[in-house]
This record gives sequence, structure tokens and C-alpha cells, in this order.
Amino acid sequence: MQAIQRLERFLAGLEEEELMEILRVSGESKEFLNNELKKEFTRRREQAGQRCTVCGNVLPESSFELVFGSPEFRRKAKLCGKDCVSYFLESIESYNELLKRKSERSNGHRTEREEKDVQKKPEKKPAKKRKKTLLEKMYSLFF
Ligand SMILES: [Zn+2]
Repeated sequence: MQAIQRLERFLAGLEEEELMEILRVSGESKEFLNNELKKEFTRRREQAGQRCTVCGNVLPESSFELVFGSPEFRRKAKLCGKDCVSYFLESIESYNELLKRKSERSNGHRTEREEKDVQKKPEKKPAKKRKKTLLEKMYSLFF
């Protein structure tokens, strides 16, 4: 009943004119409240599905859509601006590199790049949180 109590409190905060308007509209159409609720559910669903794949912001009216993946497994990325598009493309490149290295490793070979990595001293870089999140997202898109 908590929702009804909140609705009552909301109504208590309205001006008398506003209450009259709601009474009039709901008298004209018995479906008024039903329709308003359906509209709100739709709005929330749309908003949830329209966030930038890279930064997670709600997409602006003018945005980008990138279709990628193999023909039998197409995926779609929604992106808010040019910055996020180029960031996404760079990430796909490094992601493909990662997959390539993985498959080469499973063949028992070490790639040239990995040989270099082994010789180099491990250096601590501050982890880019944003990049990690995207790679994780892309990983979940494929697997
Ligand atoms: Zn973005």
C-alpha cells in the first residue's frame, strides 16, 4: 500500500485547479490512469535500452549505432558521440588482438609481442577503469 500512500501524498500537494483537471480528464476517459502507467513503463524501458555502450550516459537525440560481429552473431553498440565511437573502435582492435593472442597461445606458440612482454620488466600502470569496463562488456557480448 506504500505506493497508494505516496499517490495520496502527491495529490495532497496539488492545487485545487490541478485536482479539478485530473478529475475532469479521468472522468472523460476511464482508461486515463491505465494509459499513464503504461506510458511510464514504456518510457522507463526505452531509457534503459538507450544508454551509451562506452560511457553509460543516456543517448542524446543524435547518436551512433555500430553493428559488428560475425554474420551469424551480429551485435549492436549504441554510442553517444564521436569520442565514444573512436574509443569503441580502438577497443575492438585491442580485443581482436587479445583473441588472436589467446588462440596462438592455445596452439602452444608465444607471439612475438608476448616474447617482448616477457623480456620487459613488468611496469605498473594505473588501471583505466573505463577501458576495463568496456572490455568486460564486449567479453559478455561474445560469450
Ligand atoms: Zn558515450
